[in-house]
Amino acid sequence: QAKAAGRNTMRFFDPAIQEAALVRASLEAELRQGLARQEFVLFYQPQMNSAGNVIGLEALVRWNNPHRGMVSPADFILLAEDTGLILPLGRWVLEEACRMLVFLTANSSTRHLSVAVNVSALQFRQPDFVAVVLDVLHSSGAHPGRLKIELTESLLLEDIEGAIQKINELKKHGVRFSLDDFGTGYSSLTYLKRLPFNQIKIDQSFVHNILNDPRDLAIANTIIALGQTLHVAVIAEGVETSTQRDLLAQCGCTLFQGYFFSRPLPEAQLQDFLRRHLAA
Ligand code: C2E
Ligand code: MG
Ligand code: MG
Ligand code: MG
Repeated sequence: QAKAAGRNTMRFFDPAIQEAALVRASLEAELRQGLARQEFVLFYQPQMNSAGNVIGLEALVRWNNPHRGMVSPADFILLAEDTGLILPLGRWVLEEACRMLVFLTANSSTRHLSVAVNVSALQFRQPDFVAVVLDVLHSSGAHPGRLKIELTESLLLEDIEGAIQKINELKKHGVRFSLDDFGTGYSSLTYLKRLPFNQIKIDQSFVHNILNDPRDLAIANTIIALGQTLHVAVIAEGVETSTQRDLLAQCGCTLFQGYFFSRPLPEAQLQDFLRRHLAA
């Protein structure tokens, strides 16, 4: 066998690849340990309406690693998915977000706020996904109507019927669904028509250059119009300047999220932001 594979087997001994495999293995071990040691934290990015009031929060996970510092999800979510660690991590994110919801609900000035949670493909595909979400909602006491689940398009393609079923099952309990990064996946308008989302998020890649690239403006405009036609709320992600916000607002967009309003905030800073941006 080895002989038949010939020179090609050599590539398995390529030091660079071996090195990468080692780095990966040690990162995986650290990730596992990080979960056990509760090194993960949620930051919350405010979502705003046209009046400048906060209407909800998106929970974004970070890994507060003692050696690496605050690690961004871009650097560990893929590995967490590959290793299955996203399942315990994803459950923890749900629990933590529900804890925040209960906290928000306890105060009359914040009880209307929603909390959005990102759910990965592997997590959503689990046969017990619906049961897990309901279980976390139930044991936390969080109001299902304030929980929003963000899914990406690519995650829905494999089994559209199953996805629709899961979404509808949770919607029966009041949970809402948002289609994240819209326009960057294998968007099909048919899917959009069939999938019972409450909200679409215009991906930040279209917002980034919206002032200079007429094609990005056209795409954003079209998504906003589509949302209006389908009676699905539209929120623009990655809004960094007032000019971007104004242009999106001119297109009919009424919900915004981005650094212009706030970066994702640790819990300690969130309180202060909320005090300043809640409707009177
Ligand atoms: P996403 O869900 O599309 O989240 C938006 C990302 O854009 C966040 O990056 C956020 O910090 C960043 N962002 C927000 N406003 C701006 C802006 O004005 N300008 C720019 N340049 N960026 C902005 P973050 O927190 O690094 O998260 C990256 C991705 O990681 C998320 O994209 C999401 O797909 C994934 N992710 C985050 N938390 C979780 C989680 O708890 N579970 C899962 N499965 N995925 C997560
Ligand atoms: Mg998201
Ligand atoms: Mg997004
Ligand atoms: Mg994203």
